[in-house]
Amino acid sequence: MNGELFPTSAFVWASTRKDALAQLDAFIPAAGRYGRDRNHVFPGHRNVSRLSPAIRHRLILESECAEAPLRRYAASTVEKFTQEVYWRRYWKSWLSLRPQVWSDYLDQLAALQNGPHAEATLTRAARCEAGESSVAIMNHFARELVETGYLHNHARMWFAGWWIHIERLPWQLGADFFLRHLLDGDPASNTLSWRWVAGLQTPGKTYLPRRSNLEKYLPPEMLEMHHEGLEQLEQPRVLILPAEERPAITRPSLPPTPSLGKGRVGIWIHEEDLLVEQSPLASLKPVAILATGDAATWTSLRYPKTKTAWLRNALTDAANRAGSALGVEAQVQADSTTIEALPHWATEHQLQQVAAMRPEIGPLHDQLRELQSALTKVGVELVLFDCPEDLALRPLATGGFLGFWEKMQKSPFAEDL
Ligand SMILES: Cc1cc2nc3c(=O)[nH]c(=O)nc-3n(C[C@H](O)[C@H](O)[C@H](O)COP(=O)(O)OP(=O)(O)OC[C@H]3O[C@@H](n4cnc5c(N)ncnc54)[C@H](O)[C@@H]3O)c2cc1C
Repeated sequence: MNGELFPTSAFVWASTRKDALAQLDAFIPAAGRYGRDRNHVFPGHRNVSRLSPAIRHRLILESECAEAPLRRYAASTVEKFTQEVYWRRYWKSWLSLRPQVWSDYLDQLAALQNGPHAEATLTRAARCEAGESSVAIMNHFARELVETGYLHNHARMWFAGWWIHIERLPWQLGADFFLRHLLDGDPASNTLSWRWVAGLQTPGKTYLPRRSNLEKYLPPEMLEMHHEGLEQLEQPRVLILPAEERPAITRPSLPPTPSLGKGRVGIWIHEEDLLVEQSPLASLKPVAILATGDAATWTSLRYPKTKTAWLRNALTDAANRAGSALGVEAQVQADSTTIEALPHWATEHQLQQVAAMRPEIGPLHDQLRELQSALTKVGVELVLFDCPEDLALRPLATGGFLGFWEKMQKSPFAEDL
């Protein structure tokens, strides 16, 4: 039944750059109708790009997604799409300036999972995740997420709003459920969107799912099929969480430009950035390339097989592309943790330096210190590079999205948009 109305599982999520570019091309005709159609949750989700796994792991660039529709439409016609594409950069920049919001989330999650009253809450959350709650449409979304690794943005908002304000479950457990299953699971977009629905991100703003809104944006047959419990969405009451202090900006916006010595350099590719040939790493002359999966996170977050299979494909694609662009054979290692794999590989290839793109705030970034010291022990230096566009946009995320967008329009990076 799920498959007939929402046949997303039949859709193959682009896990190579070639497929992602083809998908972007195929989406261009729909980009002109995006502003009007994007909030509708249609079968197959053809009104939205479904490019998020590819964009999140940088198989394709945000700038490529923003520029492609301009081959056919005026910038004003596709502005909504361009803005949505840059919401991800805004969230990443915002979190990057305030990394403690991510570490607070992790601490709160651990406290909830191990606290004295954990069992009852976790049992209720597990029922909602398994699609066994009293609201059938939310059960449908939970199953769609687990089966396909994707949910439409509006469904994510309805589900998160229901989880927090109606089921009264902690937002951190819901964010963990999403991060685990979404192929596009992104520490910034996910944590900050859940905080926004909970009313923590934009003070005074929460998101409540209402029956009338679902009726407006879902096909009627879909709601008819999943009508049990809809009355719970008729007059939902907002859950007011204790106000928190505005998170302060604690991270310097411009790390120093790294320099490489004359020794043997290897390039490390990781799942945060799968486009080495268009990054600052492309100008290096490595003697070896290694792509690693973040197996420590895959295990601790209990990623499902579909997600690890997608990541393995994408890592292999990135390694092959980088290998042929830089003329070096590239290896892929996704079965052991990066902290084990990297020093071993660096020693084997007698490297003096390992160069990589700096991971954004999230699980891989959290391991950097340990990784650095494991490499130092074998006499290897880890040198991290940043994408110039990310560095230029990061300081613009001091306030809300509109301010970021307006400042971005005036920056040199917006000239082609
Ligand atoms: C509670 C909640 C959790 C979310 N968790 C994630 C997450 O873990 N990872 C993730 O990538 N997105 C997340 N989002 C944002 C958004 O839902 C997805 O990016 C979008 O649905 C992806 O589908 P698409 O590629 O078809 O998007 P499209 O509508 O085609 O948009 C094009 C691109 O713009 C970006 N984008 C669109 N909407 C948003 C948005 N609201 N915030 C940030 N970027 C956006 C994405 O890169 C997307 O691929 C979350 C939203 C909510 C409400």
